[in-house]
Amino acid sequence: MTEQKFSTGVPDQPILQPTEFDPEDEYRPEPEPEPHPPSWMDGRVRIGIHTSIAGSYLNALESARKLGCNALQIFSASPRMWQGGSTRISDVDAKAFRARREELRLGPLVIHANYLLNLASAERMLQTRSIQAFHDEIVRAIALRADFLIVHPGARGESTTEQAISTIVESVKQASKHAPMDGLRILIENTAGMGTSVGARLEELGEILAGLRNLPVGACLDTAHLFAAGYDIKSPGGLASTIGQIDGAIGLENVPVIHVNDSKIPLGGRVDRHEHIGKGKIGAEAFARILRHPRFSAAAPEGLPGRAFVAETPIDDPGDDRRNVAMLWELAGLKGQEPEAEKGFSMLTAALQKRISLHRKTEKKRNAKRETLPSGRGRRRTPRRSEKKPRTKKGGARKGSAKKKRG
Ligand SMILES: [Zn+2]
Ligand SMILES: [Zn+2]
Repeated sequence: MTEQKFSTGVPDQPILQPTEFDPEDEYRPEPEPEPHPPSWMDGRVRIGIHTSIAGSYLNALESARKLGCNALQIFSASPRMWQGGSTRISDVDAKAFRARREELRLGPLVIHANYLLNLASAERMLQTRSIQAFHDEIVRAIALRADFLIVHPGARGESTTEQAISTIVESVKQASKHAPMDGLRILIENTAGMGTSVGARLEELGEILAGLRNLPVGACLDTAHLFAAGYDIKSPGGLASTIGQIDGAIGLENVPVIHVNDSKIPLGGRVDRHEHIGKGKIGAEAFARILRHPRFSAAAPEGLPGRAFVAETPIDDPGDDRRNVAMLWELAGLKGQEPEAEKGFSMLTAALQKRISLHRKTEKKRNAKRETLPSGRGRRRTPRRSEKKPRTKKGGARKGSAKKKRG
């Protein structure tokens, strides 16, 4: 770094220095520095929510803080657009983000990958495109020093589940080739089992992870997806048996992030529709059990230090985001001990809400036209409701900034 200071703006040239060769150096490499755990692995409960990067990456950090979170999830680019080749994050932006995050002591930082990716696709073109886009996701995640990058396994289309799983494994391997993972861990998320999506069964996730065992990987489990896929996490007995199944297929120690979403869909309904915590088919009582369960905790020995609960709940009205975060702290039994939220803050303001409803009408028309596309691609145009909002917000109210990101 210090050599840089002597730069005069002339393109860097390798400087050869006549150093003496000491054969001893060859045989006594310096010991690796003792890896110290990051501050967010302090054993405390970690609660976050998906926050919008509209305007600036820094805005997501401020939103997380104002909502009373100590962890957060973001998209690193627009989640429903294929990015061009120039979506790297500038060093200045990345540096500012990392510094501010450290100040706010937010962690873990979770990034959710683009929804258009289909790492399971048997269509060569789509698979290649997905691999490239996922590689870019990894590069951006590393620039932001994210701890986890979550991706959905994808849709198998006409392929068998086994074929799809080996395609996913191959795709992830290729995407992460030559990427210095540098503390980043890829998490494969379970699905609700809509259409031909892979990963509704825990065993499928287990097989994907087994195929990727040489890479830093793990799983993200979504409560709404588990429930819709038929895992009864609502009843005490069902939760115990689900934990047993997670341990059998994946190992709960390999699940550092849990998406906490209530479900609009009943048990086994195989549709992905998120609901406010406590207002859906899973219910507050069950969430209290999950949030306080020693096996799901963020503290050793039974839990996993740094494990985070991240909400992807809908924001139907201003304040829904703040209320869901507050509800999670309350159900975790930590009301009064949580980070202070900013009174009245919401990622959704009344003015924004108005613009969104206008924007949605236009989108509805557009979507009607798109219905004619093949199902594999159309599937992603009707994503979870919860994530639709921040996106619409971006497209609707802050078009300029969203565009800039894409550029
Ligand atoms: Zn999720
Ligand atoms: Zn979902």
